[in-house]
Amino acid sequence: MKMASLTSKPKLRFPFLDLAAQFANIREEVMDAVSRVLQAQQFILGPEVEKFETDVSTYVGSTDAVACASGSDALLLALMVHGLQAGDEVITTPFTFIATAAVPAHLGVRPVFVDIKADTYNIDVEQIEAAVSPRTRAIIPVHLFGLPADMKPLIELAARRDLKVIEDAAQAIGAEYAKQKVGTFGSIGCFSFFPSKNLGCAGDGGLVTTNDAGIAAVLRRLRNHGSTQKYYYERLGVNSRLDALQAAILRVKLKYLPQWTAARRHNAEYYRALIAQHGLQSYISPPSEPANCTHVYNQFTIRARTRDELRAFLTEEGIPTEVYYPSPLHLQAAFAYLGYKPGQFPEAERASREVLALPIYPEITRNQQELVVQSMASFYKQHAPDAGS
Ligand SMILES: *Cc1c(COP(=O)(O)O)cnc(C)c1O
Repeated sequence: MKMASLTSKPKLRFPFLDLAAQFANIREEVMDAVSRVLQAQQFILGPEVEKFETDVSTYVGSTDAVACASGSDALLLALMVHGLQAGDEVITTPFTFIATAAVPAHLGVRPVFVDIKADTYNIDVEQIEAAVSPRTRAIIPVHLFGLPADMKPLIELAARRDLKVIEDAAQAIGAEYAKQKVGTFGSIGCFSFFPSKNLGCAGDGGLVTTNDAGIAAVLRRLRNHGSTQKYYYERLGVNSRLDALQAAILRVKLKYLPQWTAARRHNAEYYRALIAQHGLQSYISPPSEPANCTHVYNQFTIRARTRDELRAFLTEEGIPTEVYYPSPLHLQAAFAYLGYKPGQFPEAERASREVLALPIYPEITRNQQELVVQSMASFYKQHAPDAGS
């Protein structure tokens, strides 16, 4: 017998992200990889990790890749290798996952926020220059939801003002800007293999890409306590290494990433068609994809009228959705010390009130997508009778 739940949450008809469906398709290969590592009993770094690093740098188009323990640590290593320290500033977006700004903050580096563009949810490059101060050392663009930030003007500005560019590509592996993959524009690209990312491992994992062999060499030391040779250290590092088990699993999954990305893009197109078909364009705006970009849809984020009521209705109907992110970072209690006020980044604040992520994982069925959009149409029919079918 099932235990009655105390809050009696409505049951979802399918999950927001179905990792079990993905695993079912690659089970044997993953199990072989795991058993190979267990047989070898080499668990941290080593040949599996080296092969994975080579595979990723080939895929992304960077000369080097250095694996580490998480996407957050990828950011940490990037800041450390550039010598950022207390008193320095980095410019980034307030509409992102906490790690983008928390990692610099841990080093005493001040995150300086710049508002986002309404259509892309990415940092508004035109507003960056006004935020540059004599203490600014780097810009951290985030390729949010899998859509590249506007890298050409950003890189030009960074070069002109002598700033490093550290790309937060945690949500965007494989995404392209002007036919070039993210993670190769700045001095360092940061990736996460958290299970819900487009390439996810069986736990935590991360990686940095760079085209500078010197930087790569330092990164390799920094992730291993700063060790130059066994038990000798020129500079202090951290313990942030990738497990061989994770690398072996990721090597299997990386082979499938292009087809999974294609499926996500295909699903995005189907959502667009369904939204138009139901005449919902005046209530919800699908994500935009600028002509020079390839979006990889880690999230399919719509902007919705009366978002909270819509979401509550969808939940009642058993339709899974998520809100990324319900509060911009400049209004988080943890960042109160930065002194930002409500109203300072109006687009980030508006996005936090209006965005809703729909399930877009590669294995979602057409039928499930139709249910999602039909339910949204029923909601707007009840709440705004001029809405379509
Ligand atoms: C997931 C994520 C991170 C952090 O990655 P972890 O592997 O969870 O540490 C950083 N930035 C963004 C934008 C992310 O989505």
